[in-house]
Amino acid sequence: MPELPEVETALRGVSPYLKDYTIEKIEVRQPKLRWAVSPELATLHQVKILDLTRRAKYLIIHTEKGYIIGHLGMSGTVRIVPHDCPIDKHDHLDIVLNNGRLLRYNDPRRFGAWLWTEKLDEFHLFLKLGPEPLSEEFNADYLFKKSRKKTTALKTLLMDNTVVVGVGNIYANESLFLCGLHPMKLAANLTRKQCERLVDTIKSVLAKAIEQGGTTLKDFLQPDGRPGYFAQELLVYGNKGKPCPKCGTKIESLTIGQRNSFYCPMCQKKGWII
Ligand SMILES: [Zn+2]
Repeated sequence: MPELPEVETALRGVSPYLKDYTIEKIEVRQPKLRWAVSPELATLHQVKILDLTRRAKYLIIHTEKGYIIGHLGMSGTVRIVPHDCPIDKHDHLDIVLNNGRLLRYNDPRRFGAWLWTEKLDEFHLFLKLGPEPLSEEFNADYLFKKSRKKTTALKTLLMDNTVVVGVGNIYANESLFLCGLHPMKLAANLTRKQCERLVDTIKSVLAKAIEQGGTTLKDFLQPDGRPGYFAQELLVYGNKGKPCPKCGTKIESLTIGQRNSFYCPMCQKKGWII
């Protein structure tokens, strides 16, 4: 699944081909995605693109008439291709530009979304979202406050989009390992100091992943057609049974909130911290 670093990488990759250009039209070949594609998109003609930004894992295309909101779902990709590029059966939507190119959305599992809103501030999917992990708003004081009286597992707290957006399963696992915190630790028991270290670690883990261009997802293609999610050195995620990179103990896994969690039973020892 594309995580925040992959979405950021996609955004940075496609932006130069969209910003300041004009949308000639949008071709919707398959409107049945996670939610139906907004019918307004097919009516856009000769609309200038002013900017592109990201909120959580949503791509936002700012136009002079309103906002196109894209989400890559579980298996979606976007890339930039020439107008005459042959169409694959999973190419569901094209944003046709006046520069000879188009942004093509491909999604075998069709769990993504392409929506339209005229008022970004009131867009329903954004109303309850917590701060961006790389913003100043996400800091130790904030996490300390948010974790008080929370009787959930720490990992669940980090993956709660109303607390902080876009940390995701891979990066929650890696950050907890680097901080020596057990994923099942009671969120309310976090100390101020642990919040500080955890916030710093999450930021640096995400920034590093963005720098590397995202992690592995074999069916993602970068805008220029090269595979975009290349294998990243992950310390614990997906490494069950392998030796811990710090102490050599076998990495274990457990299920928290229906998601796999990987941890070192020695470095993230439950008894020491809960
Ligand atoms: Zn260890």
